[in-house]
Amino acid sequence: MRYNYRLRPGAQAGRALLTEWHRCRFLWNEAVHQQKSGSRPDLKKLGKLLTEARRSSQWLRNGSQNVQQQMLRTYMQALAHSFKVKGRGRPKVKARKKTLPSLEYTTRGFSIRDSRLVLPKGVTIPVVWSRSLPSEPASVRVFQDLLGHWYASFVVQRDTEPAPDTDGVVGVDWGVTTTATATDEAHDLPYLGHRQRCAAELAKAQRRMSRRRSGKRGPQSNGYQRAKRDAARLHKKAARQTQHDSRVWAKQMVDGHQLLAVEDFKPKFLAKSTMARKAADSAIGAAKRELIDRGLRAGRKVVLVKPAYTTMTCSSCFARAKQQLELDERTFLCHCCGYTDSRDRNAAKTILAVAERGHTSVDDVRHVHPSSGSGVCAV
Ligand SMILES: [Zn+2]
Repeated sequence: MRYNYRLRPGAQAGRALLTEWHRCRFLWNEAVHQQKSGSRPDLKKLGKLLTEARRSSQWLRNGSQNVQQQMLRTYMQALAHSFKVKGRGRPKVKARKKTLPSLEYTTRGFSIRDSRLVLPKGVTIPVVWSRSLPSEPASVRVFQDLLGHWYASFVVQRDTEPAPDTDGVVGVDWGVTTTATATDEAHDLPYLGHRQRCAAELAKAQRRMSRRRSGKRGPQSNGYQRAKRDAARLHKKAARQTQHDSRVWAKQMVDGHQLLAVEDFKPKFLAKSTMARKAADSAIGAAKRELIDRGLRAGRKVVLVKPAYTTMTCSSCFARAKQQLELDERTFLCHCCGYTDSRDRNAAKTILAVAERGHTSVDDVRHVHPSSGSGVCAV
C-alpha cells in the first residue's frame, strides 16, 4: 500500500530536488536515445552507462546514485512493458517543461530521522505527518504536482483491518445524474458535480491562459503561469472532493455487504461528449475504483457484471424488453409480469440478480432460464 504525505522543503532543498530530477531526466533521455539508435538497452548496459557517465561528469556525481539507478530501472520496466503490450509506444523523452518531477528511492537511499525525510547528499525535508506510518517503509517516491507542491509516497505493509461480518448483498448501476444507484435507496451516491460547480471559475482561468504568452515562442509570461496555477488548483480541489465522497461511500458499501455486484462500466471520453458528461464519467471512475479496491481488500465477493441489457431486462422475471428504453424514460415497466420500478433501480437489481446466480452477464442468465426469457412469458 502507499501512504502519501505532503512535504515542505525549504528553498535549498527544493532546488536540490529539482536538480536531482534534471539529472535523472538526463539519464532517462540518454537511455531513450540509445534505444532509438538501434541497440535495445538492458539493465547491465545501462548500469555501465551510468558508471561511466558518473565517472566523467561532476554534475552527475553530485547526485545520488540510488535515485539514478532507480530511474534506469523504471525505464527498463517501461520499455519491457511497451514490448509486451501491443500498439504501445516506447518510453519517450522527458521534456523539461512537460514532465513533473518524480524521484524514486529504495531503502538504502533514504531514512527518516527526527520526523524528517533524509535523502542522500545532505537533503533533509520536513514531512507533514497527517497520520502515522503503519510499518517501516520499503521505498519512497518523492514527486511534485502541477501546483508545485511536493509529496512523499511511502510503500508500506499494513494488516488488513477485519471488515464487520455481514450477509448483505447489493447491486450497483452507474449513471450521470446519480453516480451510483444501489438496489437499496439508502446506498445511492448522488452526483455532486464538484467539477461542474467550479466550471465557471475554471473557464475564466483557461480564458486568461489563452490570452497570455504560453511560451511557444519566447518565454512564458508570469500572467500565464499564474492563470495555469489557478486552473490546476481548481482541478485539484474538485478531484479531491470527488475522491473524498467516493471513499466515504465505498466504505459504508463494503462494511454493509458481503456480495457487491457492480456494473462493469467503461468510461468513454469521447471527443464530442460535453464537459458535464466527462466530469460525471470521472466521478464514476473514481467511485468504481474505490469500491472494487476496498471490497477486495476486505475479502468481499466483488462481481463485475457486463452492462449490456441490464436496463432493458426485468429484475423480477428476467424478460427482456423488445426495445431499448429511451434515455429520458426514467421508469421501467415489464410487459410480462407488470413489474415497475425506476429505470436505474431496476438495472441495479438485475445486476445483483445476475451476480447472485453466479454469472457476469445478463445473457448467461437468460441462457440458463430459457422459460423466463426469449419473449415467451408465462405470466
Ligand atoms: Zn417482469
